[in-house]
Amino acid sequence: MGKVIGIDLGTTNSCVSVVENGAPIMVPNGTGKMTTPSVVAFSKNGERLVGETARRQAVTNTDRTISSVKRQMGTDWSVRIDGTEYKPQTVSAMILMQLKKDAENYLGEPVTDAVITVPAYFNDIQRQATKDAGRIAGLNVLRIVNEPTGAALSYGLNHGENQKVMVYDLGGGTFDVSIIEIGEGVIEVLATSGDNHLGGDDFDERIANWMVKQFKEEQHYDLSRDLAVMQRVREAAEQAKKELSSAETAHIVLPYLVQTKGEPLHLDMTLSRTQFEELVKDLVERTAVPVQNALADAGIAASELGRVLLVGGSTRMPVVQKKVRELTGKEPSRNINPDECVATGAAILGSTLQGNALMTVGNGSNLLLLDVIPLSLSIETVGGVATRLIERNSTLPVKYSKVFTTAAPYQRDVEINVLQGERPMARDNKTIGKFRLKGIRKAPAGVPQIEVTFDIDTNGILKVSAKDLDTLKEQSITITAGDRMSDAEIEQAIRDARQYAGQDNLRTEALEVMGDAQHLLNRVQQALKAAGKQADKAKKKQIKTDSVQLQKLLTKMRVDKITKEEVEDLRRCKTQLEMSAGSLLNGGM
Ligand code: AMP
Repeated sequence: MGKVIGIDLGTTNSCVSVVENGAPIMVPNGTGKMTTPSVVAFSKNGERLVGETARRQAVTNTDRTISSVKRQMGTDWSVRIDGTEYKPQTVSAMILMQLKKDAENYLGEPVTDAVITVPAYFNDIQRQATKDAGRIAGLNVLRIVNEPTGAALSYGLNHGENQKVMVYDLGGGTFDVSIIEIGEGVIEVLATSGDNHLGGDDFDERIANWMVKQFKEEQHYDLSRDLAVMQRVREAAEQAKKELSSAETAHIVLPYLVQTKGEPLHLDMTLSRTQFEELVKDLVERTAVPVQNALADAGIAASELGRVLLVGGSTRMPVVQKKVRELTGKEPSRNINPDECVATGAAILGSTLQGNALMTVGNGSNLLLLDVIPLSLSIETVGGVATRLIERNSTLPVKYSKVFTTAAPYQRDVEINVLQGERPMARDNKTIGKFRLKGIRKAPAGVPQIEVTFDIDTNGILKVSAKDLDTLKEQSITITAGDRMSDAEIEQAIRDARQYAGQDNLRTEALEVMGDAQHLLNRVQQALKAAGKQADKAKKKQIKTDSVQLQKLLTKMRVDKITKEEVEDLRRCKTQLEMSAGSLLNGGM
């Protein structure tokens, strides 16, 4: 059985963990780092870049670089590059493919099974989109699990005692608070709350705006006009923010940032931690309401919390830690790594799903994971009312049926509008699916009995079915969630991804052969020089002819347009030169 990887698919960074020899370890990427930027880009010659390379070139290639795609998951956002339209799922899949590839390189074996984490606040469509991204990337997604649950799992492994824990997760783009109960063999999410649009990126932006304002005042130049310049400004802002987590002041220097009247302008500023904290005061304050809501939903007071876990890189900011202390009256726990614990928790869960004994907690019983649904689910009934079937924070998996009837006489079909949200009127909630139940027997209003069932699996994915209790026939229903990708679209995306994988492999192969060929040419040249006049004339002529031919092929090769035949040709020419120059290279002629 192959290993299951745990993936923390973050807004700004992603990371991968795997259980090896009974303990979770972080999987480094190709550059040896434990986190990979969740950035995808297309270079000018059409090459696809993912991770650090994509992030690094973002400055000079702003409009062909996609960052923070997680914010778009489950929406109908798309981007068109070189005539191809990319949806959030396909972009996410590219990140997942890279993580999969890095894990395979590191582990030296194929990886297909994965557990992927999502913010607790993600709705059904966003979860489904994440699962689809995994499928497109060639991953068998065993579970979609809430990020705070991942953190609790990684924490639960080290400290098995019974307690209620708050997970305060402030990442790059999202904020989640969860109240979790860690018991004997059970980790249960009691309540979740959060803000899908609050994270470290917002803090960077505050500094970036401050820099733009200062620059305008000091140098009378508006930096915000130029996208590429702003990318550099934002990167410097993030760097300064990170520095301020440990230092009292940050020195921001961007030499030769812009030119005006032929003169270069340099940016050189100092930001103090106090100034920074003033700039982000309201952002930090915004985390208070979700904290209070989560506590209220779980029905506990802050004083009943056993521990507070900090997750996400942004919780490294002292001002955030201070706020958490203020809100909970507790000193946040420092035992877990805020960047890695979500992925390690996912890896632990993955290993549990494979039935490994390691993942037992406390008394040795199997770990049971209980998640909750973040928002209530209802259907629209007479008068535009949202009639609840499943309450928010119900523990998963959950199934609930309710019998409905018709509102008009002799009504043959009904439209069922599936809603997500807490508001009493249908129109104030989000429609996540609609279906029409057809073929109801003619009867006066209120007579037909239609049983609607909501069934949510352990991944938080909803299935809705309907049954006419009169005919006892289960009707076929179609749910059309406009935001979701259709099966056909997913299949197409999988085909595209495979095609890309093939192309990527060919490019890697080509680069290898090209490197070898160049190396051979250099060696031959040196050997020819060293042999001088002693070399056999005829042989020398042959070697020169073969060298010229190989060099010609090399020069005209374009990796981004490479074909299989060209790689074969190159390989053939290289072998030819190896044969003719064999004895020369071995010291004889
Ligand atoms: P995550 O999504 O958990 O990887 O968090 C990424 C966010 O954490 C980004 O906005 C980073 O800028 C931020 N971050 C990482 N390290 C630090 C730090 N030392 N101080 C402040 N923010 C940080």
